[in-house]
Amino acid sequence: MKLVVTGGAGYVGSVCAAVLLEAGHEVTVIDDFSTGNRDAVPAGATLVEGSLADVIDETLAGGDFDGVLHFAARSLVGESMVVPHEYWRDNMVTSLKLLDAMRTHQVAQLVFSSTAATYGEPETVPITEDMPTRPTNPYGATKLSIDYAITSYCQAYGMGATSLRYFNVAGAHDAIGENHKTETHLIPLVLQVALGHREKIMIFGDDWPTSDGTCVRDYIHIRDLADAHVLALETNEPGTHRIYNLGSGDGYSVREVIEMCREVTGHPIPAEVAPRRAGDPAVLIASSAKIQRELGWNPTRTHLRRIVEDAWAYTSELGERSHATRASR
Ligand code: UDP
Repeated sequence: MKLVVTGGAGYVGSVCAAVLLEAGHEVTVIDDFSTGNRDAVPAGATLVEGSLADVIDETLAGGDFDGVLHFAARSLVGESMVVPHEYWRDNMVTSLKLLDAMRTHQVAQLVFSSTAATYGEPETVPITEDMPTRPTNPYGATKLSIDYAITSYCQAYGMGATSLRYFNVAGAHDAIGENHKTETHLIPLVLQVALGHREKIMIFGDDWPTSDGTCVRDYIHIRDLADAHVLALETNEPGTHRIYNLGSGDGYSVREVIEMCREVTGHPIPAEVAPRRAGDPAVLIASSAKIQRELGWNPTRTHLRRIVEDAWAYTSELGERSHATRASR
């Protein structure tokens, strides 16, 4: 298929673009490099550099594209509490522009990068797709509102779409891992301590209603996640909007993640308890039974150790490269 990947220089978008190319699809990446890395755009993809809202119409016009995988977004829970206007503009408004350009230029298929943050604080875990959606932060609210728009576009205009609600994505695939300009995610931050780039990791609250008092999350390997996108794309049905959770089905507390990073890296990784982070739910664990049953998705890298090992292989390699660059100056 001939595909557009928005946000294809970001962590998730670039790995998915690489896996789509491996699967034999033709890929055009749109990215403005506001948060993505130029190096992450896979060789073999065509690049359109620019802000999605500005370039989407002309990119789709006459391009004869079969589908779009939409990753470009602001995606930080804490930041979304502070500057929600940027989240509504860059997520909601830009996604509406994308949907309209798809309608105008008859691009019939969409895979949308969504999030567990659409559920908010769940009443029970694991979370299934039919549970209430009550986001506790603007990030989750913008992603949920886009789902409503997608559903109505599918019903009225015959588009076939799948929203994939990710839990906590981590790990690396080939030479691509998490390398955000401003890092806020737990596993890469903990590994930066192991690398000696940070003194300690801050634990955001140890008074949550969980077994050790720290937040529990469900970590999913980036490669398993990318495989789900290829499956979703290849099974989209016209006039239908499907929603699937993507997680491993196991919850790990912040303390357990830090302990696993200590085991994998051999570094003591000092940790200190800090106040809770606004907008965080206590526990998020996915049920991915629906996508496994309906699409045959079969994640194979589900253990936290494998996720941390792959993330560490990437982070330590990155650390060595930046050390070598500094040394050669
Ligand atoms: N977290 C933490 N210290 C950090 C970064 C994150 O304690 O320096 C916690 C955060 O409060 C959450 C969990 O780790 O409970 C995962 O956070 P992350 O930002 O990686 O992903 P999110 O769950 O927000 O998508």
